[in-house]
Amino acid sequence: MADPVRVTVWNEFRHEKRNPEIAAIYPDGIHGAIAGPLAKHDDLEVRTATLDEPEHGLTDEVLAATDVLTWWGHTAHGEVDDVIVERLRKRVWEGMGLVVLHSGHLSKIFSSLMGTSCWLKWREADERERIWVVDPSHPIAAGLGEYFEIPQCEMYGEHFDIPPPDELVFISWFQGGEVFRSGCTFRRGNGKIFYFRPGHETLPIYHQAEVQHVIANAVRWCAQPRGVYPGYGNYLPREELEGYTGPDFSGHPDDVAARG
Ligand code: ZN
Repeated sequence: MADPVRVTVWNEFRHEKRNPEIAAIYPDGIHGAIAGPLAKHDDLEVRTATLDEPEHGLTDEVLAATDVLTWWGHTAHGEVDDVIVERLRKRVWEGMGLVVLHSGHLSKIFSSLMGTSCWLKWREADERERIWVVDPSHPIAAGLGEYFEIPQCEMYGEHFDIPPPDELVFISWFQGGEVFRSGCTFRRGNGKIFYFRPGHETLPIYHQAEVQHVIANAVRWCAQPRGVYPGYGNYLPREELEGYTGPDFSGHPDDVAARG
């Protein structure tokens, strides 16, 4: 059997500590609600990390042992240390997968990888959402029907200010009339990114089976094998080049390995 996919489920974990109604919906925190169902899959190895841990729980050691990071934040995006954001971005470029959930659209890590405002329209009216699968061949849609519904949600509406996604897997329709690109893939460097819209701290959306199913599919998709992270910068020739007297270093992975 292949090695399990190592998943780190990150949560800001502030609403649940401050608001008893939210704590009642997510007694183990939103990270617990996401990590618990993931951990039931034999092919996934799951840990959690939260904002108030040292280094937000995202040390070099943790990230080196993370194939895919899932991200939920809302009220404290600004408190995420820029040093950690830069560390995450580098890990994504090197090939770590990133699944950004719901209000994570405004997180520093997502907006810095997108390069746009990532703004959208929103409304809290506990309206119905119908999430249509618009790419049934995509692995993230595996096991789903043509659509699924969330009985009560917070609306997110277009325009969603993101770069055009590489692939669009889901489009949401809302009872109030808006639509939204709810499942979008992006590639940055060697890393694969999936943005998934559903969630909200005052609604039990992460307890819904279809939502848990999509998150597990997305984690696996983000972790699919890929090539080596390329060398960049000054580059020694692969063959003898007569008369070439370049510097005695190179970004080629073989040369980096040889240097130790
Ligand atoms: Zn929300």
